[in-house]
Amino acid sequence: MLNDLMTTRECTLLRSLLDDTRTAVLCCHQNPDGDAMGSLLGMAEVLRLLGKEPLMVVPDQYPDYLQWLPNSEKIVRYDKRRDYVDTVLRIADLLICLDFNTPSRTAEMSDALCSSPARKVLIDHHPGPDVDAVLTLSHPEMSSTCELVFRIVWQLGLFDQLGKHFAVPVYCGMMTDTGGFTFNSNNPEIFFIISQLLTKRINKDRIYRNVFHNYSEHRLRMVGHVLCNRLVVDESRHAAYFTLTRADLKQFHFVKGDAEGLVNMPLQIKGLKLSISLREDTEHEHRVWVSLRSVDDFPCNEMAARFFNGGGHLNASGGRLDCTIDEAVAVVHQALEAFEDTLK
Ligand code: 5GP
Ligand code: MN
Repeated sequence: MLNDLMTTRECTLLRSLLDDTRTAVLCCHQNPDGDAMGSLLGMAEVLRLLGKEPLMVVPDQYPDYLQWLPNSEKIVRYDKRRDYVDTVLRIADLLICLDFNTPSRTAEMSDALCSSPARKVLIDHHPGPDVDAVLTLSHPEMSSTCELVFRIVWQLGLFDQLGKHFAVPVYCGMMTDTGGFTFNSNNPEIFFIISQLLTKRINKDRIYRNVFHNYSEHRLRMVGHVLCNRLVVDESRHAAYFTLTRADLKQFHFVKGDAEGLVNMPLQIKGLKLSISLREDTEHEHRVWVSLRSVDDFPCNEMAARFFNGGGHLNASGGRLDCTIDEAVAVVHQALEAFEDTLK
């Protein structure tokens, strides 16, 4: 069984918000990943069960490897249909924010989100919730927002009535945020949740393949190129970084999602504690996307906040630098030096 996540007050409030809404909008963060998409689709399914038809919005494109998710075709992109979403946000009475802690994580959508008169509910697992919400369900100890969504549904007593269209995206998000249950997933309750999701006759093996074995030949060769030619290992500091330039991305026909998982690979080196990826934006000249991954107690989020204008979790963070790739490499060197003692 599961320990309750919500207090009685939170549970009652959420139920009444879900029951009372006439126009609900659900949204997640920019560059949506499996957890963002999974929690969006899972929560939307709950509203449908209650007879509502919520609007699901993502700030921008979601990766190819998630396009098979049931109902994903109903998701609206803010960057494509801004006027429409702005109009709905102006009349919405409920806005559920999933898998982000602060409006700026929704990029261009941030203003419309903040100025919407809708009552907001935040459901998230990033530290430091900063959304003006009537109900904040922020639990950084959770593996994923999808795990949170499951627990909420379980506590509301709605799980029995939900089917595959709930279970598949929720499983998918839990799986992607834990690297296929290889990190951040030691809580035995996670496996209770999985066992419950399996009762909905989801095919977890196929979900794994859909997500992790869904790349092009180009992507596989790009991985080879990065590991062979772009990886720099700082053995004494137990850290590594690599760059992906715009030219690299072009050479390997980069599409969104192709860099997924790459930053985890250097951690396969024995003794390595930190891996950093620097990827040039495909469009903006001086923009570098930064991803950080660590093991044990090395605080990626502290490094991301201090050096890369970002944040995230202890072991998985991200950020952005507005500079050239060479300047970004210099920032990495500064960051490694500053955190030298923690890396030892
Ligand atoms: P990724 O490396 O997959 O882009 O990001 C890893 C994690 O870091 C994400 O799940 C997210 O929690 C966090 N993250 C990524 N970019 C940012 C950012 O710019 N700001 C903050 N606060 N967190 C980020
Ligand atoms: Mn997440």
